[in-house]
Amino acid sequence: MQTLPVADRFAYSNLGTDTTIHRRKTRPVAIGSVIIGGNNPVVVQSMINEDTLDIDGAVAGIRRLHEIGCEIVRVTVPSMAHARALAEIKQKLIDTYQIVPLVADVHHNGMKIALEVAKHVDKVRINPGLYVFEKPKPDRTEYTPTEFAEIGEQIRDMLEPLVVSLRNQNKAMRIGVNHGSLAERMLFTYGDTPEGMVESALECIRICQSFDFHNLVVSMKASRVPVMLAAYRLLAQRMDKAGMDYPIHLGVTEAGDGEYGRIKSTAGIATLLAEGIGDTLRVSLTEAPEKEIPVCYSILQSLGLRKTMVEYVACPSCGRTLFNLEEVLHQVREATKHLTGLDIAVMGCIVNGPGEMADADYGYVGKTPGYISLYRGRDEIERVPEAEGVAKLIALIKADDRWVDP
Ligand code: SF4
Repeated sequence: MQTLPVADRFAYSNLGTDTTIHRRKTRPVAIGSVIIGGNNPVVVQSMINEDTLDIDGAVAGIRRLHEIGCEIVRVTVPSMAHARALAEIKQKLIDTYQIVPLVADVHHNGMKIALEVAKHVDKVRINPGLYVFEKPKPDRTEYTPTEFAEIGEQIRDMLEPLVVSLRNQNKAMRIGVNHGSLAERMLFTYGDTPEGMVESALECIRICQSFDFHNLVVSMKASRVPVMLAAYRLLAQRMDKAGMDYPIHLGVTEAGDGEYGRIKSTAGIATLLAEGIGDTLRVSLTEAPEKEIPVCYSILQSLGLRKTMVEYVACPSCGRTLFNLEEVLHQVREATKHLTGLDIAVMGCIVNGPGEMADADYGYVGKTPGYISLYRGRDEIERVPEAEGVAKLIALIKADDRWVDP
């Protein structure tokens, strides 16, 4: 396995004692009312799985996602009819709900479709390997530099109308490269590698820049986490060297479902976010898209990049634990999970509990058998029978005027 110098791998983070994540500097790119990049919070997105031709179904799917915190919703547009349907979907959202930032995914040879859908959505996602599809020649084994450049010129011509349309409407484009669907000339020239993925994106970026279009977001998705990590790191490095400050969209494709799908997505996405790379993310699960949103927020909250829920600190419990920690944590969470912004600790004993509460706002700590202590910050406030612990904790938060009803 090739190892990059440490300085390159952690270009944006400080390996010293600094506990802040230093995000890569990017330009703000507007997707309707939501801004990706700049100093804006990392944006959460997902994708409906309804057929875009099913207007009512698609509107309901978009609304469902948006209501639970999905800030940008993607839809797929496989045909011209689907592209036209977006006009109706957008109008229906305005009439029955509100404007939702929308992205359309355009696939094989999608030039005309992309031009139509660009009228109705805020961002168009293209896959450079598929958008301009070169039919592979069975006997070909390489591309000469001249052939490579000539095809590049054809691609520029084909992309021009979309780029100009998006530029003139001040809308955005995601250059979404996927490992596994690189164009043949990229594959033959760079191999099926992170380098090939990055070159594919850079070519597309340069074309957009040549038309003075800069509302770009770039992604490098792969289903294998080490490939995805290498591709995104290389992309960030190459863009920085070229003075390109475009925001980055993070994701692991085909991550699967259940616990492993969540861990795999987190391994890829959180690693990069911790290094300062990434301005928006999608966790792709083989489950209902609504299931993706809590995972996105948990990743962002655990890294301190967004605070959208209560932060619970709880010890793993051990022989010293004085109560059923799992059950009490569950009760505390059920009672307080709507209090966004608070940190609440549940610790098994006073030996290590108070010291390890990590500056939580409130603490519930095992004191002696049958009794717990409530803390405000590092101060012990009162000792109460365990059976009254959760109610007394709520009373304390209320007394401090930090309670809101669910
Ligand atoms: S806080 Fe106390 S009970 Fe919890 S793990 Fe540490 S020593 Fe054990």
